[in-house]
Amino acid sequence: MDKILFLAHTEADGTLPKAAYEALTAAKNLAGDLQGATLVAGLIGADVAQVADTLTGIERVLGVSGPEFAVSRYSSDVAAAAALVSTSDATIIVAPATPRFCRALPGAAARLDGRIETQVTAISAEGDAVEAERWFYRQRIVAKFSRSQRPWFLLTSPGAFEPASAEAGKATLEAVSVDLPAKLRTKVTGIEAATTEAQTIRPDADILLVAGAGWNKKQKDGATHVNDASSLVLGFLELARASLGSTKSLVDQGAEGAEVMSFMSHLNQVGQTGSTPRHRKGLATCCHGEEPHVVGWRFVSERRAINLDETCGWAQGKADVLYVADAFEVMAKVNELLAADA
Ligand SMILES: Cc1cc2nc3c(=O)[nH]c(=O)nc-3n(C[C@H](O)[C@H](O)[C@H](O)COP(=O)(O)OP(=O)(O)OC[C@H]3O[C@@H](n4cnc5c(N)ncnc54)[C@H](O)[C@@H]3O)c2cc1C
Repeated sequence: MDKILFLAHTEADGTLPKAAYEALTAAKNLAGDLQGATLVAGLIGADVAQVADTLTGIERVLGVSGPEFAVSRYSSDVAAAAALVSTSDATIIVAPATPRFCRALPGAAARLDGRIETQVTAISAEGDAVEAERWFYRQRIVAKFSRSQRPWFLLTSPGAFEPASAEAGKATLEAVSVDLPAKLRTKVTGIEAATTEAQTIRPDADILLVAGAGWNKKQKDGATHVNDASSLVLGFLELARASLGSTKSLVDQGAEGAEVMSFMSHLNQVGQTGSTPRHRKGLATCCHGEEPHVVGWRFVSERRAINLDETCGWAQGKADVLYVADAFEVMAKVNELLAADA
């Protein structure tokens, strides 16, 4: 009979990240569907009392807290997770695939002689058997599988589950002590964010705007218009609070010494060798819609594209709507309408 542990860590402000409440949905659903299963919560952070009160629906809430657990650090996080799993006697651990947990929980699984899956997109129960789902080979193959080894860590992919709502009340929090190494060799002195001119990646945005290499190509007057392209793209991002994606061809141009959009980096690349973001809507502009790019749109449900070429890839069943038009003209008009609406 499996015992499920919902495991989460706090953010710098002491709250739980949205991804944690998504993992909570997965854990609760599994506990409801799995015969004879019990659910326990385990929290890691500087002070977890406040977030424990948002989990009053769970009978047993365990916490590892103290200044050493405020920050993401492999050694303290592995020790904390291992202590929570041992105290709860958990066989299945459901936790969010945050960067902090993706770094530390494989270590905890190894220490406990368990197994781990990251970026899990679905968890289901059949009788007393648990099945996990995740994508492989750059999101091209989806697999459902099960394991007999316990403990089994399942890290839920952010955006794949609806977040559970925070409850109100007073939880009884059981403090769990952790044996930390006598000397923690890694000291976290602060976080330095990458310097970029503008914030362009917004994972929670409703819309993804993808810019393709066409923005930097010669237009009908025989000249390139990179500055105009940059302000149209940035204007849309600001007005629609959209996130920015790019094709490989566009981000590669910077490395090849061409005049480029200064705010674009390889982090924006969507596709087979880029990211697979989760946004409800996507708008591809000046982008041909080739398979290695479109494979990154796997989780975008409403797809539109603007291209001068009516035979481009988007016209081959890859978009719901293709506007055969000049993206410079269309985006100028769209920004004008959005600005008037603001
Ligand atoms: C192993 C491998 C991995 C790859 N991984 C990735 C990946 O992760 N991501 C990725 O994106 N690509 C990837 N690629 C590259 C991919 O195959 C394409 O080469 C790339 O996506 C093309 O980029 P693009 O559509 O921006 O440029 P292009 O193919 O040059 O298309 C530009 C488009 O802009 C249109 N256009 C020009 N001006 C206008 C205008 N004024 N208005 C409207 N439309 C206009 C043109 O009609 C054209 O269709 C990979 C390739 C390989 C071989």
